[in-house]
Amino acid sequence: MKTRLQVVVVGAGIVGASIAYHLTQRGARVTVVDSGKAGFGASSHSFAWINAGAKSPAAYHDLNRRSLEMWDRFAQRLGCDVGLRWGGKLSWEATSEGAAALKERVGQLQEWGYPSRLLDEAELHRLAPELSLGTVTAAEFSEIEGQVEPQMVVDACLWRARELGAKLVEGTSVTAFARSKGRPRVESLETSGGSLPCDVVVLAAGVSTTELAAKAGVHVPQEESPGVVIRTDPRPPLLPTVPVVYAPALDPDHPALVRSEIHLRQCHDGSLMIGEGNQESLRRDDTQAHADDLLGRAIHYLPSLAGARAITVPVGYRPMPLDGYPVLGFPAPNSTEAAPNVYIALTHSGVTLAPLIGELAAIEIVDGVRVESLSPYRPERFL
Ligand SMILES: Cc1cc2nc3c(=O)[nH]c(=O)nc-3n(C[C@H](O)[C@H](O)[C@H](O)COP(=O)(O)OP(=O)(O)OC[C@H]3O[C@@H](n4cnc5c(N)ncnc54)[C@H](O)[C@@H]3O)c2cc1C
Repeated sequence: MKTRLQVVVVGAGIVGASIAYHLTQRGARVTVVDSGKAGFGASSHSFAWINAGAKSPAAYHDLNRRSLEMWDRFAQRLGCDVGLRWGGKLSWEATSEGAAALKERVGQLQEWGYPSRLLDEAELHRLAPELSLGTVTAAEFSEIEGQVEPQMVVDACLWRARELGAKLVEGTSVTAFARSKGRPRVESLETSGGSLPCDVVVLAAGVSTTELAAKAGVHVPQEESPGVVIRTDPRPPLLPTVPVVYAPALDPDHPALVRSEIHLRQCHDGSLMIGEGNQESLRRDDTQAHADDLLGRAIHYLPSLAGARAITVPVGYRPMPLDGYPVLGFPAPNSTEAAPNVYIALTHSGVTLAPLIGELAAIEIVDGVRVESLSPYRPERFL
């Protein structure tokens, strides 16, 4: 009988929770530590659109698509409702420049074998009659995309992990790593609640991963990436067919609406989430005035939203590796400074990627292999 591996996962966002769940499924003993409450980090700010359509280049697009296609199985194994809803994403443009860019993007996605397609205006109306489209110069539908509720996923993962003996320690910060003199391995974690012994540490602490990794001798640079997605009060179902909508910046009939594009989706509890720009847009305005403005722009395209109340949400900070791609794995075996038993799990698009990262990280940690498809995403690329 092998001794069961003792793994401490630092961070109970969607990434840490998925890794913890998959580790327990593979027989590890797991403790999850979070300085706050599980799911209250970046995961609670996420627009939570599951997609590969917004990802480039081809290899990264494929990684996201693979994870997208794992979501059904993941949710099924969790065995409870996590707010997973398919139906695709619709977007359209109102200018000729926007149309040219959209057509080019759809062409690229089709070359990668992604079932994105251009729609004519009649098809667009048929698919989403609830939308008031304004001028349409081009429209696109990505039918395999969807949405999920990160908090429900986190709760489900941790619940299943605890059924297999995992411990969740909330309100406790990891502050340092203890190593014996002359030995590179981390033997225990120092936390605000005392010391925790470990065979392996997983750093899934979102934006705090950089600072913690540095204490273990691993360089994982990030850039600051603030984003704002507001909410409304709960409404009756308003987007019955296609759950995720990207609407254009510019409506020539309403020149006052010349700003960036907006995106909206309806959550499991009936509230709507509304953001502006794309998935990486930097936004810091979390005032009520801005929330009211976003709601006004959403009502312009979805008139049945009239009467909703805009609820501000504080700025959320995306975990964002410096080059934009995930950082996954143990440090390179030849690294002299780095603790060899510290596994980094830092990523943007962590909602889309949570099933894949959880499954592959658990294989690497428990079975001691290096999964080939993760080789472009190793921490050593920043050395
Ligand atoms: C505005 C916005 C929109 C987004 N939209 C999308 C989208 O549409 N689709 C998509 O796929 N992704 C989206 N993302 C990205 C996605 O939400 C994140 O990639 C994902 O939530 C990251 O999860 P995580 O578990 O790595 O980090 P987090 O959820 O931030 O979890 C990290 C946890 O670590 C804990 N922690 C930190 N330091 C310590 C410490 N020292 N000790 C103990 N615990 C610690 C924190 O308390 C936190 O709970 C969006 C993000 C934002 C902010």
